[in-house]
Amino acid sequence: MTVKARGAHAADQPIVAIDIARRAPGPRDVQIEIAYCGICHSDLHTVRGEWAGTLYPCVPGHEIVGEVSAVGNEVEGFKLGDIVGVGCIVGSCKQCSACDEGLEQYCERGMVGTYNGATADAPGHTLGGYSQRIVVDRDFVVHVRHPREQLAAVAPLLCAGITTYSPLRHWKVGPGSKVGIVGIGGLGHMGVKIAHAMGAHVVAFTTSESKRQAAHELGADEVVISRDAAQMKAHRGSFDFILNTVAASHDLDAYTSLLKRDGTLCLVGVPEHAHPSPYVGNLIFKRRAIAGSMIGGIAETQEMLDFCAQHGIVADIEMICADDIETAYERMLKSDVKYRFVIDAATM
Ligand code: NAP
Ligand code: ZN
Repeated sequence: MTVKARGAHAADQPIVAIDIARRAPGPRDVQIEIAYCGICHSDLHTVRGEWAGTLYPCVPGHEIVGEVSAVGNEVEGFKLGDIVGVGCIVGSCKQCSACDEGLEQYCERGMVGTYNGATADAPGHTLGGYSQRIVVDRDFVVHVRHPREQLAAVAPLLCAGITTYSPLRHWKVGPGSKVGIVGIGGLGHMGVKIAHAMGAHVVAFTTSESKRQAAHELGADEVVISRDAAQMKAHRGSFDFILNTVAASHDLDAYTSLLKRDGTLCLVGVPEHAHPSPYVGNLIFKRRAIAGSMIGGIAETQEMLDFCAQHGIVADIEMICADDIETAYERMLKSDVKYRFVIDAATM
């Protein structure tokens, strides 16, 4: 089946309309008519070849929500008309210790990404959610239980939501924790909302003075302009956990020095160029750690969606037409987005 999509033919080419093929649903597949797809900074890194290994044509998009239009005969738990989501993962080996523990994102044989992943389908790599339809193994589809009118704002939870929820859970953030969220973009604004809902004291770090008031409205108890050394110094040695979502290379020492003894700075941003090497003294003298975290497994993605539905959490979005993806990318590069662009797939 041919469907309309948006993608690029090379790293230096813009996003254009292309037709792609979707497989007929197999026995274990769920076919989804895509309603909305969020724009993640990873889409931009990938489609513009900022990370090695992009395969073209590249159709990005891994914040997918839509309606089930067909299911294979071995599919249980999903039926026609269900509102569902697909995030960053559409396959994994299902046999290794990571998969056994529901950590498909760390599959030892390599998870299959929703785009740029290995597949038997044409053209030999997966094509993502900037499209009208997708066909996905049922084990990688999740239920959306938010009110239907919120669906567009649910889309970003499938990556930005889970990528912040998973480390906040892993490092046991809750009442009594002082948590920093660095970079108030797509990921960071979800991190503020989720950490606040978990009961933490939340400090938002932003380079954008214009986001100060908005960060409070998202749920931040305090907002620090990270370019202001005096504001940074006031928080030295005080954080249990800092989640850093910044998409560009920067000085990490500015954040490790804000941690308490035994505190952790967790990186989720994957900038094109490496960060300057951090000062080890900052880590050694207070047994602090720098860690990383990648998205989240499927069970945890469902848990996060249900947590967000219970707490009334969705993303703050700006809806765009498919023709405006390049403009959205340019604005994202200027940190000019509050806080996630979402493509209306009806405009595909
Ligand atoms: P985004 O919407 O562009 O947000 C990034 C934010 O970082 C910006 O809004 C800005 O916030 C801040 N920032 C940008 N340039 C900066 C600079 N030079 N110095 C300091 N701060 C800067 O991006 P996103 O979609 O949230 O993604 C963030 C990063 O996470 C990307 O690298 C993406 O690829 C990665 N990612 C990783 C995972 C994972 O599993 N680990 C999953 C998804 C995405 P302020 O205006 O507040 O400063
Ligand atoms: Zn993403």
